[in-house]
Amino acid sequence: MFNNPFLKLFQEQQQHQYIVGNATVKERIRKLNSLKKAIQDTYRSQIHETLKMDLNKSVTETDLTEIYPVTSEIKFIKKHLWHWVKRKSVPTPLSLFGASSYIKYEPKGVCLIISPWNFPLNLTFGPLVSAIAAGNTVILKPSEMTPNTSALMKIIVQDLFDENEVALVEGEVETAQHLLNLPFNHIFFTGSPAVGKIVMKAASAHLSSVTLELGGKSPAIIDDSANLTTTAKRLIWGKLVNCGQTCIAPDYIMIKENLLSDFTNLCKDAIESYYSKNIEDSDSYGRIVNQNHYERLKNLIDDAVSQGANIAYGGNTNTSDNYIQPTLITNCNMEMKIMQEEIFGPILPIITYKDASEILIHINSNPKPLALYVFSKRNFLIDNIVKNTRAGSTVINNNLIQFNNHHLPFGGSNNSGIGKSHGFYGFKEFSNERAFMKQHFKGISEYVTPPYTSLKEKIAALTVKWF
Ligand code: NAD
Repeated sequence: MFNNPFLKLFQEQQQHQYIVGNATVKERIRKLNSLKKAIQDTYRSQIHETLKMDLNKSVTETDLTEIYPVTSEIKFIKKHLWHWVKRKSVPTPLSLFGASSYIKYEPKGVCLIISPWNFPLNLTFGPLVSAIAAGNTVILKPSEMTPNTSALMKIIVQDLFDENEVALVEGEVETAQHLLNLPFNHIFFTGSPAVGKIVMKAASAHLSSVTLELGGKSPAIIDDSANLTTTAKRLIWGKLVNCGQTCIAPDYIMIKENLLSDFTNLCKDAIESYYSKNIEDSDSYGRIVNQNHYERLKNLIDDAVSQGANIAYGGNTNTSDNYIQPTLITNCNMEMKIMQEEIFGPILPIITYKDASEILIHINSNPKPLALYVFSKRNFLIDNIVKNTRAGSTVINNNLIQFNNHHLPFGGSNNSGIGKSHGFYGFKEFSNERAFMKQHFKGISEYVTPPYTSLKEKIAALTVKWF
């Protein structure tokens, strides 16, 4: 630990944590306002440029999926922070008569935020907003795979904060490993389940608390009562935002067998209505983040085809700019890698079921998903799926929209994540719920101190019986 390149920075934040933690709500809101102004005004066009460079993101998608989630989170927190930080009185049992009790949310201290590349600004500054609201100092480690956006975020952070309060460290896996060796009070990690396990293991050395926002395969179930045209439009939108590189994108579809052909045709129509027939030239369609992920996705298609899957639409690729056409795949089986690994790209396998009972068997044979989508008008079927499965979130008759409701907790369960973010849940994640009691006058416990006489024995017996 003593030759850790980030030890000095960490110690400076440790020393400064009480000044930051004691900042009034007004001061915390001032910091959040300055971040809001920076991303929605001062640096907005540069953010558009870097996300175009890193992920070929259109201006509209950058505004809606990178900037807006952070600015709307700030607006939400500004409305509610006053209430969240107030001490909350709670009842005190009669057996503790003479005392009062309350809870106060105090900052955890020095926090580490490690973020992924798919929504680099949103998933770095989003948790930062919660950490600032809760009064912490923060070191940010964004992904090395979106270097232009990471470099710009560093400029923004340096412009707004002193290093002993918020600092951003650029770098690859080795950088993350150095940081993980430090005794942070909380680690907020967004990324893959595989790296989530590494983070949790490192955190255990210092008993740092963790929030793990992970991924996995999120299914979308469609039954024959759903409006197929609307369902296809919504699912294709959800799948292809950010070129499919979204943690809560529908990973695959499970549809009643007799609907397969109609649904596949409606998906084709939806794709072309959003991106035209010439998708490669569409300004609205993104690209795969890098060559490695491009090759990974191409391999998923090749592996499925080699095992008998059909490409119902798409399948074209272009190595020169990591382009993968939206691709619909049918006739898949569970031996194919595409049905085993998180896809995280614009490839949509469509599998079928004959009887609704197959849905639960299939979902429950896999780890708990981050999101589970159901498209149906049958309340009985929806209830049955919801009651007999577990997932981070569920949306009925739509997808993706749960991310932007700050009243809802966002996160997974076990393999798809531990802990929650957004709104109050994000604030809570970066806070310690400190329990307080105050003794006002002599309590009952003071009448039962040793030596234990027969009278005290009776008091104890009455306490057990009545309080
Ligand atoms: P990743 O796990 O490969 O990397 C995430 C971060 O961890 C990066 O900053 C990276 O530098 C760092 N990292 C990588 N290997 C490491 C190691 N061995 N030790 C320490 N740090 C390491 O994930 P990714 O490829 O950037 O993102 C894709 C994954 O993230 C998908 O699984 C996706 O579902 C998930 N994700 C989840 C959410 C969510 O909110 N639940 C959001 C976005 C992405």
